[in-house]
Amino acid sequence: MTYEHARDLNLTYDSGRGYWHFVLYIEPPHGAGSALNGGKIMQASTSRYAAEWINRLTECDPDALHVALVGKNDAPNLWHPCVYEDPESPSAIARDGCVCWQTFHDPVTWLPVAAHHFRTVSGNHEYWRHFTFTPLALPEKERLDRLIIDSEADSIWVRTDQGNLHFLPEARGAGYSVGYGGGGPTELARMIEKIVQMDGYGVAAGTSRGMPNEKVMSWVSSKAADRTQELGLEQLKLLCRTGSVA
Ligand SMILES: [Zn+2]
Repeated sequence: MTYEHARDLNLTYDSGRGYWHFVLYIEPPHGAGSALNGGKIMQASTSRYAAEWINRLTECDPDALHVALVGKNDAPNLWHPCVYEDPESPSAIARDGCVCWQTFHDPVTWLPVAAHHFRTVSGNHEYWRHFTFTPLALPEKERLDRLIIDSEADSIWVRTDQGNLHFLPEARGAGYSVGYGGGGPTELARMIEKIVQMDGYGVAAGTSRGMPNEKVMSWVSSKAADRTQELGLEQLKLLCRTGSVA
């Protein structure tokens, strides 16, 4: 959709607060986590990195980014309380089960997070799944210190020189994986080359289309890569030179 100022941006001035409001019209996607950025789904129990990320999230009211995140079918449910707060909630089942959504933001990146609660009546099964977007770039001035392969959560993380944990920036439809020869490992191999070329600075989504460094590709697609491990920037440089991380 092409942006039109008169149609899409409506400014109203609130003299009491002293700033301009504006309304941004967006088209929600079809399903949870399928919008502009790449999507991620995390459970705290999956890995220590997933737990660290979930623990830092801040509760907030639903906003347009949460609507974009979950899609139009689930969007109205973002405003329903959990069964624990209100057994009569539209998201409660028989006053005991629950299929509610709760909303958060990540205080490090300000990306939206929507947590979906699933609790059966009597509570035999209960878990929360956290949906979010992957960032398109690491924050400016943060340098990659370690690349983390998290095989439990099936995710690639970055720890920056400021100690922050981030999802490795990812282009939509171009996710990463390890341990076999395919599109995910090819994208990760190209990203490792890019990180090394940039010396860990300015890590952003998207790689060139060409074939990756053969040494990197060989390691990323091997069983050696397919376990949880942290690789320092020097190890990534070594990998590009020699095809080995130690
Ligand atoms: Zn709930």
